[in-house]
Amino acid sequence: MKTTIITGISGQDGAYLAALLLGKSHNVIGLVRSSGTSDLRGLEYLKIRNKVLIEECDLLDISQIIKILTQYKPAEIYNLAAQSSVSLSFRQPIGTFHFNTMSVFNLLEAIKLVDRSIKFYQASSSEMYGKVSSLPITENSVLHPVSPYAISKAAAHWSCIHYRESYNMFICCGILFNHESFLRSGNFFMKKVLTESVKISRGGNSKLLVGNIDIRRDFGYAPLYVEGMYLMMQSKKPDDYILCSGQSISLRNIIEYIFKKLSINSAFYEVSNELYRPVDIEDIFGDPGKAKSELDWKYSMDSEDLLDKLLEEELAS
Ligand code: NAP
Repeated sequence: MKTTIITGISGQDGAYLAALLLGKSHNVIGLVRSSGTSDLRGLEYLKIRNKVLIEECDLLDISQIIKILTQYKPAEIYNLAAQSSVSLSFRQPIGTFHFNTMSVFNLLEAIKLVDRSIKFYQASSSEMYGKVSSLPITENSVLHPVSPYAISKAAAHWSCIHYRESYNMFICCGILFNHESFLRSGNFFMKKVLTESVKISRGGNSKLLVGNIDIRRDFGYAPLYVEGMYLMMQSKKPDDYILCSGQSISLRNIIEYIFKKLSINSAFYEVSNELYRPVDIEDIFGDPGKAKSELDWKYSMDSEDLLDKLLEEELAS
């Protein structure tokens, strides 16, 4: 039985990936920063809480990582742990940069020291492309990050490429565009729109407060994106792949679509200047062609399919 470690198991992707790997008979070990405070509701939602072994590990302390690798001898690690919010990174730039880069360096260095055959997956982000000069984004587009989060992810991304090229290690970076699900945390736009809208439609008298909703993003469905992560780790040669839907939609159109579905009047949302970021990407969407042709990754949901699915999950909760 293959032992796989997932960092960030308490996050959205950690839960869906654990479910996928358990279905493929992996022995899954999930790392959390603190077993006392980490929220494992995602594993409970997917009914796999008792199938994943949870271990505490401070990824900023390489000695703890070495101990885990020596004890469990994993065949692979999926590194999903990160301060993952772009908005929060503007308020906490140093903490974001420190954790998102040093945790990756520690993991890479620990693998190099303990067992270079351990395969490594890094959660890179479309945010790294930032200031876009041409669309769609491909794996060859130039990185021009425009937030502390994106800068940290770009630094971690290049650290991975460096270890792959210098030490012949099996390292894949999945460059993922926004992906959503019922398990998305409430501080992200899509989940906030869904939960607030459902509340309003059920008679709650709150109002949906949003920032710049004229920006456009490429959104996809998380359970299908973790399949792409898995496929990368099965390829013969480690490489970097974009996972995205291939189309963008404006945040305004998302609100309007959900409001219409729930018969909510547009007076129930309001744009607040306070929620604007210092700088934002206007429009971004990617080209999933490499993952589709080289990994046979199958993804065909368009924006409306996605919104229908997310709304259905939210209403069922
Ligand atoms: P998420 O739900 O925000 O989960 C992040 C995970 O990282 C959580 O388990 C969290 O643990 C952990 N974490 C955060 N700060 C930490 C710290 N200082 N020390 C230890 N653990 C920490 O993120 P996700 O949506 O599953 O995304 C997974 C990965 O993909 C992240 O690296 C994210 O940046 C990247 N990514 C996501 C998207 C997307 O659209 N979802 C797109 C591109 C890339 P706690 O529960 O203890 O906070």
